[in-house]
Amino acid sequence: MTEFSTSPGTRDILAPEAARWREFQSVFADVVGLAGYDYMIPPMFEDLGVFLRLGESTEVVTKEMYDFEDKGGRRVALRPEQTASVCRAFVEHRPTTPWKVWYAGPNFRYEKPQQGRYRQFDQVGIEVLGVEDPYLDAEVIALAMEFYKRLGLKKVELNINSLGDFGDREKYAVALSAYFQQHSKSLSPESQSTLVKNPLRVLDSKRGQDQEVIAAAPRISDFLSSDASEHFQKVLSALQLHKVDFAINDRLVRGLDYYRRTTFEFNSIALQSAHTALGGGGRYNGLVEALGGPATPGIGFALGLDRTLLACDAEGVFDAPSVAVKVFVVDTTGGEQAARLSSELRTAGISVDRAFDDRSMKAQMKAADRSGSAIAIIVGSDEVAADTVIVRLMTGGQQRVVSRSALVDEIRRELKLS
Ligand code: AMP
Repeated sequence: MTEFSTSPGTRDILAPEAARWREFQSVFADVVGLAGYDYMIPPMFEDLGVFLRLGESTEVVTKEMYDFEDKGGRRVALRPEQTASVCRAFVEHRPTTPWKVWYAGPNFRYEKPQQGRYRQFDQVGIEVLGVEDPYLDAEVIALAMEFYKRLGLKKVELNINSLGDFGDREKYAVALSAYFQQHSKSLSPESQSTLVKNPLRVLDSKRGQDQEVIAAAPRISDFLSSDASEHFQKVLSALQLHKVDFAINDRLVRGLDYYRRTTFEFNSIALQSAHTALGGGGRYNGLVEALGGPATPGIGFALGLDRTLLACDAEGVFDAPSVAVKVFVVDTTGGEQAARLSSELRTAGISVDRAFDDRSMKAQMKAADRSGSAIAIIVGSDEVAADTVIVRLMTGGQQRVVSRSALVDEIRRELKLS
């Protein structure tokens, strides 16, 4: 037993999985970069008040926050998500609208750790502030679907709904609350307590006991104003222009109190577990205002990295990229030649590793093997005297003598880099 190991709900991400994480973010950067989104890096902790503005009925806020008092007596919290930070940054810097940004990185929630659910987990996401246009809703959703496609995922379903405008949602909440209260005896104790805080969230319950009552509950679609309904229809038509398939799910409410109109979730049908939601998002109005800014519409999504990679595993796509170096230098003269050669090759853009501690030829060849490199360059005192090296192909084992001056070109040719 070691004295320390990672805290519950956190993990070390080692090679080659760590390379896969980087590649994940890089594919995302490509996809959203092509649509004009700028990268932003919000801080990992903020004044607790920023996240409290997400609303009292959001579990992320009430139960799962990593908040503490710092040494200066400030009440701060590790970010549980990044939308609130983006909106706070918008208010602080007042960029011109539309403001289109993307982000990536860890969030923190004090949840019960299990597969696909961690206390530190990564997300990538985008947010756009200042635009109501339904074409934007479709663009935002289409970008997420494009990203899944670029990862190679085929079994991702888009569920979409409209929560209407503030008045619609309020009327719906009243009707829903009355209905659930009528049937509260049939609801699970958890849902009975959710009902008091936010009747919409009862629709989120996955508990078997609640399903019958939920199935017969009033539907948001009957409460939409004509404006909200028209907006939703335009979003759906625009999604067709983007060739994005969708399923309308009028039980989809999602967590945030500020969600208005379009709301959506991406689910993997390749995952068997309870957690099939890979990501989601929607429109939110009022969050910028709640943080002290002008009334500004917003829309965005956050996609969970951990769970998306589980979906990739389930579909057998987006393998970890190779982290092996291309060349390994074996130097039996003490190490100076390896220093010269590796430096020369790295300057030429070729990845190189080497052995240290003047190990035996056999030990160095073993290390070359383990490194996964395609080529070993072997140099001993004979080669130094003749100003040559031996180039050995690791698969097949053929080797030949190459003059030092021709080495970089030879290696480039061998690796098909030129
Ligand atoms: P949310 O910010 O709650 O809407 O979550 C968006 C996505 O982030 C989810 O669909 C998950 O893929 C991922 N996610 C949320 N919470 C966790 C967690 N505790 N562990 C791993 N992934 C998470």
